[in-house]
Amino acid sequence: MTWKITSHSISEADLINEESLFFLGNGYIGVRGNFEEGYYPSFTSIRGTYINAFHDITAINYGEKLHGFPSTQQKMVNVIDSQTIAIYLDGERFSIFEGELISYQRTLHLDKGFAERRIHWRSPTGKEVVVIFKRLVSFIYRELFVNEVTVEPVNFSGDISFVSTINGDVSNFSDEGDPRVAAGDAKRLHVKEVTTKEDAGFVLSETETSNLKTACLSNHNTMNRTSSKHYSQTEQQAAFTYSYKAKPNEVILFMKKNIYVDTLRHGQNLAEQAEQISTSIRELDFNQLLKIQEQYLQEFWQKSDVEIDGDYHLQEGIRFNLFHLLQSAGRDKYSNISAKGLSGEGYEGHYFWDTEIYMFPVFLMSDPNLAKQLLIYRYSILENAKKWARTLGHQQGALFPWRTITGEECSSYFPSGSAQYHISADIAYSYIQYYQATNDWQFMIECGVELLCETARLWMDTGHFRRDGGFVINDVTGPDEYTCIVNNNYYTNVMAKHNLRWAAKLVKQLQSLDSNGVEELMKKVELNKDEVNRWEKAAKQMVLPYDRNFDINPQDDSFLDKAIWNLEETPKEHRPLLLHYHPLTLYRYQVCKQADTVLAHFLLEDDQNIDTIRNSYNYYEEITTHDSSLSTCVFSIMASKLGDLEKAYQYFKETARLDLDNTHGNTKDGLHMANMGGTWMAIVFGFAGLRIKENGIHLSPQIPKEWNRYSFHFQYKNQPIKAEIVSKGIFLHLMKGPDLTIWVNNQPIKLTSDKLVKVS
Ligand code: BGC
Repeated sequence: MTWKITSHSISEADLINEESLFFLGNGYIGVRGNFEEGYYPSFTSIRGTYINAFHDITAINYGEKLHGFPSTQQKMVNVIDSQTIAIYLDGERFSIFEGELISYQRTLHLDKGFAERRIHWRSPTGKEVVVIFKRLVSFIYRELFVNEVTVEPVNFSGDISFVSTINGDVSNFSDEGDPRVAAGDAKRLHVKEVTTKEDAGFVLSETETSNLKTACLSNHNTMNRTSSKHYSQTEQQAAFTYSYKAKPNEVILFMKKNIYVDTLRHGQNLAEQAEQISTSIRELDFNQLLKIQEQYLQEFWQKSDVEIDGDYHLQEGIRFNLFHLLQSAGRDKYSNISAKGLSGEGYEGHYFWDTEIYMFPVFLMSDPNLAKQLLIYRYSILENAKKWARTLGHQQGALFPWRTITGEECSSYFPSGSAQYHISADIAYSYIQYYQATNDWQFMIECGVELLCETARLWMDTGHFRRDGGFVINDVTGPDEYTCIVNNNYYTNVMAKHNLRWAAKLVKQLQSLDSNGVEELMKKVELNKDEVNRWEKAAKQMVLPYDRNFDINPQDDSFLDKAIWNLEETPKEHRPLLLHYHPLTLYRYQVCKQADTVLAHFLLEDDQNIDTIRNSYNYYEEITTHDSSLSTCVFSIMASKLGDLEKAYQYFKETARLDLDNTHGNTKDGLHMANMGGTWMAIVFGFAGLRIKENGIHLSPQIPKEWNRYSFHFQYKNQPIKAEIVSKGIFLHLMKGPDLTIWVNNQPIKLTSDKLVKVS
């Protein structure tokens, strides 16, 4: 049961959310769950198909543009629509919003990787049909989105027609009133070519300014028994009409295979490329494609499934979230995982720190090769990050853009955008985690060490040793976007410290290694003689704000001087605060949008003692609104660490079904991908207490009283392990490879392949 997400609703409010919830993707293309045949005319819908990293460039218009503000930004473009298939029964249009809907069920199959709608409908004139729509976006053939429709007349003989279009007349969604969605000119893509021939339509479009092109080639497979067919084209679209004579209980099958290509990946001759790909899969029918898809997903779930015995809804939530993460992760050097994945246009397809801190860990533990792809993307924009640092006045180092697609900063509001320097330390953190979990020295030589050195340099250039010798970092913003441009944000400083320490450490280790590429790397990085020593000194002397009175880490130097926002008396309709108060009002109060210091205490728990961590948690919990979806999972993890399982469970529940229950009210703009990763983190890092440390994997498992057992998989140094937690202990199963020692509650436990080990 929990492998299926189902819905029976056809209300406007549900359907627009379901466009995100039922989206299908493979890291390259993403297709929203729109109805093939369209909606009731007055319904709002965001009809969308996206290609990861395929973007246009738009001007940012400022009233007052100061030095160094980015003048343009990138925007993920809604590309050619191939979803549309209208159906006519003897000329009467099929629409479940008219006539009588006898039964309706929509399902997303998480284990098989496809979506379907099963409809039994009676038309206004009394014609009864069973219509089944199936669709999949292939994990194997990355350019392929395929639809299959079957229509079975129940009580009539007559003409069944399908009108299928490939439509280039598309726009992006915009909303002037919500800063989380794009505003302004929505038409970014222009059709350059439409061609039609026997059963195939081709549309090629070009963006307005980035000069990227994309094309869609759709092939229709009919049963060779059409009574008539014809095709036509306009300047914007290709249209195909197929008609069949059908008798009661005779099933008419219609299939449309859509191949998407773009000039980032496929060179300039898109028509030829699309044709080649299309030819290579011509023989495969929907069921065969489905079989291959199922095999892929079987392997994915073998490595990644999390089982929860005791709560059906949460089980559904975690599987749903993992599935969508898989669908959204970019698999090439051009792409990453945007804040909404490929499910919608919120945050305009931009990549944030969300990837490294919230999603990367899921892949690192389940599919390190995919995780590595995400790191490679960051490495591919390292030169942009160096350039961006120069623009912001730094003599050295790399500052990663707060939000971007191709590496240039896309943030037009710097206090809670570009000022979030911590993104550079977050990226460094994920490289260090990768190294610790895989020991992949080759990758560290090729990319990792250089990236760590360049980010370390940024901290040296941003901060300085003040008179008392402390290393301070001033005028930056931490993760909490309700507190901006501050001195010594605890999170930033402790993450920078980690970055500096590890850059120094790896450079030193590298110098003693005799590996291919080391010499080249050292030349490339051009380290000064005592640069590494200065990094170590800055790390050691890094200022980490501490308040003796409360025994907490203040979020920054001035945080505790501010008045405390009265959350209790803030009207419910004023949430989230960001939509109701000027930023300056928020900045003047102790009020947090999301976990900040609490997150730092999770990521770098050994840099603080447990009492300070506990006191800080209690302090920040009172003043945190969780207006960002990146917050509750962190509070859940830390409640687990502090032994408050009840609270951990409450926060976990809020996290796990955030999109399924639309608790933030904006699922229509796309799924909250960081929160989806956070759900996994709250189980694995939270309840099970997993940490990746220098001396290996640590676990300190607990189990919420509501559950009988839970289990998950992880990989360490290329060895897959399954952990199963019950109330009386933990079972560990090393699936293959040499013996391995991991730590459970700080005790070393030796694992031998294929032997179940119980630790109580
Ligand atoms: C959060 C950021 C996050 C962004 C994209 C904002 O609401 O405050 O931390 O990076 O959303 O998900």
